[in-house]
Amino acid sequence: MTLVAGVDIGSTTAKCVLLEEGKVIGKSLAPVGVELVKDAERALAQALTETGRERREVRVVTGTGYGRFKVTFGQFTLTEIGCHAKGSHFLFPATRVVLDIGGQDTKAIKVNDQGEVIDFAMNDKCAAGTGRFLDVCAGALGFDVSEIGPLSQGARHPVKVTNTCTVFAESEVASYVARGKDPRDILAGLYESVVSRSLSLLQRVGIEPEVTFTGGVSRNEGVVRALDRRLGYPSNVSSLSQYVGAIGAALHGLARAEAATT
Ligand code: ADP
Repeated sequence: MTLVAGVDIGSTTAKCVLLEEGKVIGKSLAPVGVELVKDAERALAQALTETGRERREVRVVTGTGYGRFKVTFGQFTLTEIGCHAKGSHFLFPATRVVLDIGGQDTKAIKVNDQGEVIDFAMNDKCAAGTGRFLDVCAGALGFDVSEIGPLSQGARHPVKVTNTCTVFAESEVASYVARGKDPRDILAGLYESVVSRSLSLLQRVGIEPEVTFTGGVSRNEGVVRALDRRLGYPSNVSSLSQYVGAIGAALHGLARAEAATT
């Protein structure tokens, strides 16, 4: 039995996944601070504690994400694009396009039937349409981002959010609140704005089913609903969607280790 770990250090959260015999047997998720090496170590330690396994049992550790070079105790580091492709294919083998919306960037990734990257597009210049955009706008509405997913249900007259810049969108949301707009309509407008930006990225790589939605924002059911409405069919979302990068890292690490021993 081979136990491997994937550690994904993102802009807002550290995720770790333990994989054994093709199954996710443990995981951890925590916000990142300023000491990313410690966050990475803690992520692995927490996942091990959750499963009652020892560090010495882990054959390969692979780091990914924006802070992957802080996984200094690992054997490999890989970009999150290849890891999201691999992890999505693992969870949903018919995936052809991955939409990953994390804390500070959005990626559209086209994959082949082996989960290998064919093409990708990303917005990495500003936080428009990312988790950060939703975190800030949720705050302007008086909510935590983890609460706002279900709240757009029942929206009747979604507002038009014209500002894509996070700072201006926050003021726009505040002005809608001041004018007494229904929070459901404001949230529906925000989700529409996030999804519109995502669709233009997806169009750059070519949209075809199945579309797998990954990253922390896929936990927001309002965004998932808005995406599915625009796609015209449901995207794949798993309870492990925020861990897809870490899963892909663990799988790539396992493949490399096996290749090295054959
Ligand atoms: P990164 O890898 O860049 O750190 P993640 O993929 O972990 O980012 O996504 C972080 C984002 O996910 C947050 O900015 C937030 O908007 C969103 N998010 C996290 N948890 C939830 C939740 N429970 N409900 C809705 N959105 C969430």
